[in-house]
Amino acid sequence: MDTWWLKAYPDPAYRSWVLQTWNTAVEHKTDIEPQHYQVTCKDGRLITMEISGIYIDNEFLAIFKDATQRMEAEDILRDMAFLDSLTQIANRRRFDEKLIQEFNLSITTNSPLSLILIDIDNFKQFNDSYGHLIGDECLLKVAQCISTAVSRPEDFVARFGGEEFVVLLPQTSAAGACNVAQKIQHAISELTIIYDHCFTNKVTLSLGINTRYNQCDHIQLLDGADKALYKAKEHGRDCIVVNQ
Ligand code: GH3
Ligand code: MG
Ligand code: MG
Repeated sequence: MDTWWLKAYPDPAYRSWVLQTWNTAVEHKTDIEPQHYQVTCKDGRLITMEISGIYIDNEFLAIFKDATQRMEAEDILRDMAFLDSLTQIANRRRFDEKLIQEFNLSITTNSPLSLILIDIDNFKQFNDSYGHLIGDECLLKVAQCISTAVSRPEDFVARFGGEEFVVLLPQTSAAGACNVAQKIQHAISELTIIYDHCFTNKVTLSLGINTRYNQCDHIQLLDGADKALYKAKEHGRDCIVVNQ
């Protein structure tokens, strides 16, 4: 067993933490609740084991279950539930959850929260001109470009639906959100997705910004960004409007 402990848990700090859990249980003669441990295999692979112990008449019955495959399957399911398969960014369901979380957090921490709603300009015509497959490719490129342009780890980008995207910016004022919107607009312009029938000759975006204010709920935060986006379209597209 001593050799096994050394080989299964080569990291001394991790090994002593696991040993402590077991020694405490042995001392108190209690069962050990199932828990995940990172165990090193003979071939050097690291796997996740669910290990539990049952105390029976001064003996321990230890149960080892390889949880690696189950966790991988869970990861895939979680990705499928929250990722948009076409654009490889978060989907609407994930956004709806995240919006409520970040909205509540911004109230408790009394910090600003901004939201940018983004819509590709004249995208119906783009599809009609180049076909749906090229349209899909364009959506993927735009989504990835927006994700790259939004750099802070706490910022969040999702596909809102169709050819619309949403960016959630915690601890960000309207002026800060405007900077991010400009960065996105610039990145899309640099990307240069050819659109011959459009006067700019490339794909452009309209962006609407709203920032949380007193007495507003998360639906109003979203509605305000939608109004701003509508104005951006009215102003001729390829522009940014902040909800006032
Ligand atoms: P506007 O500038 O006012 O936004 O005009 P628009 O043509 O972009 O707006 P509209 O809402 O009329 O059209 C949106 C288009 O987006 C229509 C639809 O075919 C296209 N679209 C939505 N989802 C997808 C998708 O998953 N793939 C492709 N290729 N096209 C999509
Ligand atoms: Mg639209
Ligand atoms: Mg559009």
